[in-house]
Amino acid sequence: MNRNEFLRCSALTVAGGMILPLMGCTSTSTGPGLQVDDPGLRQNWAGNYTYRAENLYEPATVEEVQQLVNRLGKQKALGSRHCFNNIADSPLNQISTRKLNRFLKLDAESGTATVQAGARYGDFAENLHQQGFALHNLASLPHITVAGACATATHGSGVTNGNLATSVRSLNLVKSDGELVTIDRNHPDFPAVVVGLGAFGVVTQLTLEVQPTFEVRQDVFVDLPLASATDHFDAIMSAGYSVSLFTDWQDKKVSEVWVKRRMDQHPEDLGDDFYGATAATENMHPIASLSNEAVSDQMGRPGPWYDRLPHFRMGFTPSAGRELQAEYFVPRDRAVEAILAVEAMREEIHPPLFITEIRTIAADEFWASPCYGRDSVAIHFTLKQEEAAVMALLPRIEAALAPFGVRPHWGKLFTIDAATLRQRYPRLEEFVALARTYDPGAKFRNAYLDERLFT
Ligand SMILES: Cc1cc2nc3c(=O)[nH]c(=O)nc-3n(C[C@H](O)[C@H](O)[C@H](O)COP(=O)(O)OP(=O)(O)OC[C@H]3O[C@@H](n4cnc5c(N)ncnc54)[C@H](O)[C@@H]3O)c2cc1C
Repeated sequence: MNRNEFLRCSALTVAGGMILPLMGCTSTSTGPGLQVDDPGLRQNWAGNYTYRAENLYEPATVEEVQQLVNRLGKQKALGSRHCFNNIADSPLNQISTRKLNRFLKLDAESGTATVQAGARYGDFAENLHQQGFALHNLASLPHITVAGACATATHGSGVTNGNLATSVRSLNLVKSDGELVTIDRNHPDFPAVVVGLGAFGVVTQLTLEVQPTFEVRQDVFVDLPLASATDHFDAIMSAGYSVSLFTDWQDKKVSEVWVKRRMDQHPEDLGDDFYGATAATENMHPIASLSNEAVSDQMGRPGPWYDRLPHFRMGFTPSAGRELQAEYFVPRDRAVEAILAVEAMREEIHPPLFITEIRTIAADEFWASPCYGRDSVAIHFTLKQEEAAVMALLPRIEAALAPFGVRPHWGKLFTIDAATLRQRYPRLEEFVALARTYDPGAKFRNAYLDERLFT
């Protein structure tokens, strides 16, 4: 939009008493919703994907969301842009939840906290803690929105911890005709809509289960022999409330083991020798050669759950920064076989790899969740931004993990085709059928959903 168009649009909207459309006058002058022109928001967090949507809206109220959804054609909700693929894109419009970011209420009696969809975990976790409550788990970073995380079944770690969506008690959703509906655990569509990939509408708020707050100590051990990791896999992954293994698959070892233990359950020191790994002597980044500035505190120093469960601290760039990610879920009882299958590819994997992380996630009942119906182990790859090399490597990893019925993380890179996805996610066809009833005009469909689910 040039300067004249901008001024014309502004004048129109001020005169009409509407919220300012900053660009795209023709598409916004007849309705509400702030449309923004910030080049930084036109890419995902990693910068590997540029959104194709022509218009980006930032409604500040639920009513504005309803009016936008009703008025616009093709559209997709956008959270904090942390996915590595085109899942949050739309051929026409994106509806960002950046301004729907408030902590709405804590209900101590029912053990719930209600937040707006665009609230990032790091925005309200400390407040929750100060009021005496905690969420059950967090992802490696606190920078992501609650709705965006739940929509893709984002997870942390822990053999008894389900993914973040498992804490959802209910959500409010704007359907394609603008109707606002509440869907709670008693609603038959709940297991489809919560991990909804943005296919059912725009979530405006979520009510999450909370529990009394707790402290966590984080201990890191280095150089775990791979043989020890595979021989004692279950014991190692159960050694804490949340455990992560980091490896670059070189030298038959796991370079770091991060053990996060609740002080109210296992406050004791694990000593210096952990299944052959030795206790780190300072805070470690998962990629040992990188600065430890951004990581959450370790060395067994207790701290509140929100400051220990994520690997990275709010206010710092998480992970490696310029990177790509892929992640694959296998049944936990096949984890050792799967890990060895990947390890056999170590020479191929090494060149584009920064680091692999291995975590556990408890089974859940969400139709599109990678952990649907099975306790899982996630094998994650943080990769260099060498797209050609990465996209050549992923099908090879997917083939190696195919015998284990591997399911991909929806928000990361993968190449598994629609027919295979349908085999691997037993309720995916029902998911698609139900999404069609919520969105008969296919407003929320985009290239990602069309190619991978709706074919
Ligand atoms: C550095 C880094 C670390 C990560 N660590 C982890 C990790 O530890 N564990 C893990 O599982 N994943 C991890 N991820 C992946 C990330 O958690 C997911 O990609 C998550 O979906 C990102 O949330 P977002 O708010 O950025 O969503 P976006 O990328 O903006 O959107 C994701 C999807 O959610 C939908 N969506 C967003 N908001 C709404 C809404 N209000 N209503 C309906 N649909 C909506 C979008 O349409 C889209 O389909 C990581 C990513 C990065 C970049």
